[in-house]
Amino acid sequence: MQNGSKSQCSIRSRYLTVLMSEAIENLVVIGSGPAGYTAAIYAARANLKPFMFAGYQAGGLPGGQLMTTTEVENFPGFPDGITGPQLMDRMKLQALRWGSEIVTEDVISVDFQQFPFVIQSEERTVKAHSVVIATGATAKRLGLPSEKEFWSRGISACAICDGATPIFKNEELAVVGGGDSAAEEAVYLTKYGSHVHLLVRSEQMRASKAMQDRVMRNPKVTVHWQTEVVDVFGDTQLQGLKIKNRQTAEIQELQVRGLFYAIGHQPNTQLFTQQLDLDKTGYILTQPDSVSTNIFGVFAAGDVQEHEFRQAITAAGTGCMAALLAERWLSSQDLINEFHQSEASEQTEDGTHPPEYKLSAAFDPNTTRHQGAFALRKLFHESDRIIVVKYASPTCGPCHILQPILSRVIDEFEGQVHYVEIDIAEDPDIAESASITGTPTVQVFQDKSLLREFKGIKAKQAYRDAINELLAATS
Ligand SMILES: Cc1cc2nc3c(=O)[nH]c(=O)nc-3n(C[C@H](O)[C@H](O)[C@H](O)COP(=O)(O)OP(=O)(O)OC[C@H]3O[C@@H](n4cnc5c(N)ncnc54)[C@H](O)[C@@H]3O)c2cc1C
Repeated sequence: MQNGSKSQCSIRSRYLTVLMSEAIENLVVIGSGPAGYTAAIYAARANLKPFMFAGYQAGGLPGGQLMTTTEVENFPGFPDGITGPQLMDRMKLQALRWGSEIVTEDVISVDFQQFPFVIQSEERTVKAHSVVIATGATAKRLGLPSEKEFWSRGISACAICDGATPIFKNEELAVVGGGDSAAEEAVYLTKYGSHVHLLVRSEQMRASKAMQDRVMRNPKVTVHWQTEVVDVFGDTQLQGLKIKNRQTAEIQELQVRGLFYAIGHQPNTQLFTQQLDLDKTGYILTQPDSVSTNIFGVFAAGDVQEHEFRQAITAAGTGCMAALLAERWLSSQDLINEFHQSEASEQTEDGTHPPEYKLSAAFDPNTTRHQGAFALRKLFHESDRIIVVKYASPTCGPCHILQPILSRVIDEFEGQVHYVEIDIAEDPDIAESASITGTPTVQVFQDKSLLREFKGIKAKQAYRDAINELLAATS
């Protein structure tokens, strides 16, 4: 049903049969950034029990873009700042507390031509009377000829996640881009690199005046104007870039060990191209002063529809608007199915209370879970169990997401494996000797040999399969 083109007739009678025969959600929220969680919080408080697809790998991370940043200093209510992952954790808990149902799955298709709307992931098909799309935007890549070869071997799209890894320590690094993210990342990387080259395509930056000042004042940052990256080179790791001066066409080599992309975003709207009106750059078009799309009952919030301000608070604001409009829509169609919970509760995605995974402070070789270099060294030399090691860094959003996923897998192998968490900021030496080039990385050892390695976040099944295979081989 097209919004704004036809009158909103009551659809209750048309779908009565369907209503009686199967469960239909009041509201499905797609995406778990500030927009998605705020929509879920408002809808849950209105007793709508929203169902959220938090995402898994499509279009960024569950928790959204703030999972890749350190301090958020401008979100109201946190006078001392808060890290991005902590802020998103709090939003998630608040959504769960009021009864949202959250699954860490990517939506792979939607059908808004049918009513109830149909939303599908690999694991389930959900029908809903209203939908809030909050799929945000994704960082762009340059598409260099050797980009794939050196991806995670020196090239990264997340300075905040990977900047602390040992391969970048005291090395020359480069950042590509001219906006706020590029400026912020260049300054951030001076904490780790010996010098940072900021490569800007034009003769000026798009970053705010304040951010430009921070860059220009920093003696460890050199800005290369009118410069683009043509390709990268190296052996097993990145060793340098070929850069071209756009005025003279001269190509030079720049010896750096890290290249960080900060070149803007692509709205995550591939799913909606045949379903909703989009603008020419792919953002979802919404009605003036509203977050209603061209389909009644479908709303879009956050960076997927708003590309001027792109802030957590504006995303949250539009998420709130979307939930309130969804409630109005359901009410006008007499479709609200209210859920009441006796008291707010903190639940996990499975509906259970959050597990407390206490890592043993004192080393005990008989326990499954351990932390730090001492435990790893002891177990590496003395244990006959399989050892699963997770290398993480404190500011890495993906590490945060991996934590419960891996923890649940380890639960399944209690007593059969050792699990060691290494914070690479606290134990840089061990990360270096393990050749860690980015976080999170999971390595699986047996008999002092590295048998499996997983970079980034994988599905639970991948870790489970690897451990099962190794256990089967030794039994
Ligand atoms: C490095 C960095 C620093 C920043 N710092 C600040 C700051 O200090 N203050 C500030 O206000 N803003 C900051 N921002 C901007 C802010 O992060 C964004 O404006 C905000 O996160 C947008 O929120 P959103 O909910 O619209 O989308 P996003 O945060 O982009 O979240 C999108 C969500 O959609 C999910 N998703 C995508 N596709 C699918 C799919 N197919 N199925 C299911 N789920 C899907 C993703 O997993 C993700 O959960 C920063 C951004 C970056 C990159």
